[in-house]
Amino acid sequence: MATAVVHYTAAAVSDRGRKRTSNEDAFGFSVEHGVFLVCDGMGGAAAGEIASALAVDEMLRLLTSRAEAVPLVQAALEAVLVANEAILSQSQHNQNLRGMGTTAVGLLVEERHVMALNIGDSRCYLMRNGKLLQLTEDHSFVDEQVRLGHMTREQAQRSNFRSMITRALGTQSQVQPDLFELEAELGDLFLLCSDGLTRELSDSVIESLLGVDLSLEDLCASLVSAANKAGGHDNITCVLVRAEL
Ligand code: CA
Repeated sequence: MATAVVHYTAAAVSDRGRKRTSNEDAFGFSVEHGVFLVCDGMGGAAAGEIASALAVDEMLRLLTSRAEAVPLVQAALEAVLVANEAILSQSQHNQNLRGMGTTAVGLLVEERHVMALNIGDSRCYLMRNGKLLQLTEDHSFVDEQVRLGHMTREQAQRSNFRSMITRALGTQSQVQPDLFELEAELGDLFLLCSDGLTRELSDSVIESLLGVDLSLEDLCASLVSAANKAGGHDNITCVLVRAEL
């Protein structure tokens, strides 16, 4: 059983939410290449949409064309570098796009070897044996205050600064993603999501919604619907990836 080959299935939903007029989130994945991405763009006018779409396109292009011999870590760092340069270059050449940027959260899988990467406050969670675990750490002002012990989780949730991120793709010449590696177990369910989900739903609510025996498509739909019922203040994007036999 322990050596059984793992396969992955995936589903995704992205929703504008109930308050925003556009959707600045983007997602993309290739089950065949084991690449799954969610990006949440920011910037005036349509710039946020452009930044997140560009990040997904560039990272997906790099990661799906990588040579097999290239280690995941190296492939991830290179994809982030190329996406960062692509966004930065567009924002430097077009006045209307100046200052645009995006978060990025990704899951890369090679059989049981799993790597999550993130920049900003989009998250990767792992649901294993009915328990939800956040794999990534937000690069946000409030999360850093919580880690430093200057703010409680509850204060962070209510803070006016909660959307202030401290790291983004495309806003500076250098950006470093955080990388988290682990071994997948059969039945593992990974969730990649934008903050439009986690701002509306607590981890315990997400855990109970993911504990229901539904298809991945229906689970995505139920998360998005719950976030909309809770207010839908922001764009909501979920990608679910399950490790199966
Ligand atoms: Ca957002």
